[in-house]
Amino acid sequence: MANPSLQFGEFGGRYVAETLMPAVEALAEEWPKAWSDPTFTGEYTAILRDYAGRPSTLTEAKRLADALGMEPGGRLLLKREDLNHTGSHKINNCVGQVLLARRLGKTRIIAETGAGQHGVATATVCAYFGLPCTVYMGARDVERQALNVFRMQLLGATVVPVEAGSATLKDAINEALRDWVANVDDTHYVIGSVMGPDPYPTMVRDLQRVIGDECKTQVAALTGGLPDAVVACVGGGSNAMGIFAAFVPDASVALYGVEAAGEGLEGKHAATMTAGKLGIYHGMRSLVLQDAGGQLQEAHSISAGLDYPGVGPEHAHLHETGRAKYLSVTDAQCLESLSQLAQTEGIIAALETAHAFAALPAILDEVGRDKVVVVNVSGRGDKDMHTVMDAMKPDTDSSSTEQPS
Ligand SMILES: *Cc1c(COP(=O)(O)O)cnc(C)c1O
Repeated sequence: MANPSLQFGEFGGRYVAETLMPAVEALAEEWPKAWSDPTFTGEYTAILRDYAGRPSTLTEAKRLADALGMEPGGRLLLKREDLNHTGSHKINNCVGQVLLARRLGKTRIIAETGAGQHGVATATVCAYFGLPCTVYMGARDVERQALNVFRMQLLGATVVPVEAGSATLKDAINEALRDWVANVDDTHYVIGSVMGPDPYPTMVRDLQRVIGDECKTQVAALTGGLPDAVVACVGGGSNAMGIFAAFVPDASVALYGVEAAGEGLEGKHAATMTAGKLGIYHGMRSLVLQDAGGQLQEAHSISAGLDYPGVGPEHAHLHETGRAKYLSVTDAQCLESLSQLAQTEGIIAALETAHAFAALPAILDEVGRDKVVVVNVSGRGDKDMHTVMDAMKPDTDSSSTEQPS
């Protein structure tokens, strides 16, 4: 029997400090109202159109389809979130949450960031609205992601290095929660993925489902029907939930999430769905990588955006019910696919995104090579070029651009 206070089967919930409960409850009450208010959604849609560049295009990848051995009738279609302002899907969520913060009368924005992509998107939207923005970032990540730290500062944000714990993303989240507790009256916390306490997983999914809604219309215009499979990479899970949301009710559409297997499932990785256990962390009940003592484990992936030991509760539910399938691919497979996509289609994807492509051979084996398959291109690869250069030249010194772990 499902617990009624959990939103996604046995996953979800609202596990926050007493002092935050009123703010989280206010968000939970206001979000459905805002989302059904045409003034709010009208403004959100207009900003995504005029500022972020939506709708993002759908590109047919014929040469990659050939390289993967797709057969007559088979089509490989790419949903191009890499073409958005700031280079990924993250802007969709930030625009919506900052609009909601304004509606709630909040005058200050905080966010956490791992590699800096969510921090940059939040700082961007805060500059657009003229709101002060503080971004918490693990001290190790601050060192390793100097360019994104400078971007945020150039956009007018304050970046606070967090020295606690392993000085990475999970510690930055704890520190952002602490700031929120202290400043909850005037501050909104923009969480960067479909995670955290209710209503964040629902709200971020709603704000990202524009990807799936557009995609459904675009695929229908091209093929006259639904795709047979939809594929996306999964870190916290927001780009995947955004494209999945439109197709979950269509039972004929197979949904595939792809996690980071890092050095391999026997070594250091970030494959939460494959190797995680039930736990309560960062305000939610979901699957999480934990050690024998139940402590959050360090994750590893060559891709900073997938390098998180947890996953959004709705993915845990889709996994448990079997509606979506989750695969994992290694750093090495990711790099191979990044090159293959670049050389067959002229698209340099983010390392996160390349994971989705690396799972295509296994997915095509399963669904068939004469099917219509959509891949969500969650972001562009400019930010990753140093990492990729180092990884592809194993003999040169790689100490300066090591990825967060
Ligand atoms: C942040 C990021 C991800 C991972 O986040 P999700 O919430 O799982 O989507 C994936 N791709 C890109 C390009 C990102 O910047």
